Amino acid sequence: MARANLNRVKRSNEVAEMSLREDQLKRYARQLVIDEIGDEGQEKLLGARVLVVGAGGLGSPLLYYLAAAGVGTIGIADGDFVDISNLQRQIIHGTDDIGRPKVESAADKIRKLNPDVNVELHGERITADKAVDIISRYDVAADASDNFATKFLMNDAAYLAGKPLSIAGISGFDGQALTVVPGRGPCYRCLFRNPPPPGSVPVSLEAGVVGTSPGIIGAVQANEVIKIIIEKGELLCGRFLVFDGLRTRFDIIEVERDPSCPLCGDNPGIKIPGDSGVRDE
Ligand SMILES: [Zn+2]
Repeated sequence: MARANLNRVKRSNEVAEMSLREDQLKRYARQLVIDEIGDEGQEKLLGARVLVVGAGGLGSPLLYYLAAAGVGTIGIADGDFVDISNLQRQIIHGTDDIGRPKVESAADKIRKLNPDVNVELHGERITADKAVDIISRYDVAADASDNFATKFLMNDAAYLAGKPLSIAGISGFDGQALTVVPGRGPCYRCLFRNPPPPGSVPVSLEAGVVGTSPGIIGAVQANEVIKIIIEKGELLCGRFLVFDGLRTRFDIIEVERDPSCPLCGDNPGIKIPGDSGVRDE
C-alpha cells in the first residue's frame, strides 16, 4: 500500500502520526501534487478545525470547497432555516431542504461529498457571550454571515480568541473580502470602525444579490482558509479585496492597522465582542 510521508511534526506541539489512506491518496491526488500542499499540507488540512458562521450564499461554496479539500473538522453555525428564496444563490441547499435547519442541510451535503470530514453543528445564532468560546475551539474562523452585526461580532471574537478570520460581504454584483490575523495587520474595525446604523446600508434582502457574487467571494474565502492552514502564500491580510462583478474587476486596497482601533489598537477598549457596535437585537 502506498503511504504518504509519516511522522511529521505538526504545528503546535503534538507529534502527528498520520498517514493518508489509499482512497485519500486518490481523492486528494490533484492537490497532493502541488508543491505548496503535498502530503504535509494535506495532513494539516485533515487535522484542521475550521468554523464557518453562515451556511448561506458565501457559506455554500466555502463549506463545499473546504470539505472537498479534506478539512478534517468543519463547524457550521447558523440558526436559520432553508427558504425557497435562498436557493438562487445558496447552492449547498436544495428544493428538498426547504424548511430544514440550514446547518443540517449543509452537513448532509458535506458528508455526502467527503466522509473524511467531521461536521460540528451550531444551530443557534452566534451571540456575544458564546462567540469567543466557540471560536476558541477552532484553528481558523470564517464569517460568511449576511449582516454587519455578526461581522463585527466575529471580528472581535476571533481577535480576542487569537484566531485568524476570513471575513467577507456581498451585494448585487459586488463583493469584498479581508483576512484578519491577530498581531499581523488590521482588523475589520480598522477599516470600518462600527457597524452602520441599522437600515442605512441595505442587506441582500433589499439590495438583491446575483448568485455568482457569493459564489466567487465564498471561493476566495475558502482559498484564504486553505492558505492559513497550509501556511503558504500571501493572505488578504492588510489587503482589502474589492470585486466588481459587472466590470469583472478585482482590486486590492492596501490597509494598515489603525493605532486608534478600539479592538486591535494601542489602547483597546473592546473586551466583549460586538461591544461598541450593534448588539444582537
Ligand atoms: Zn483593528
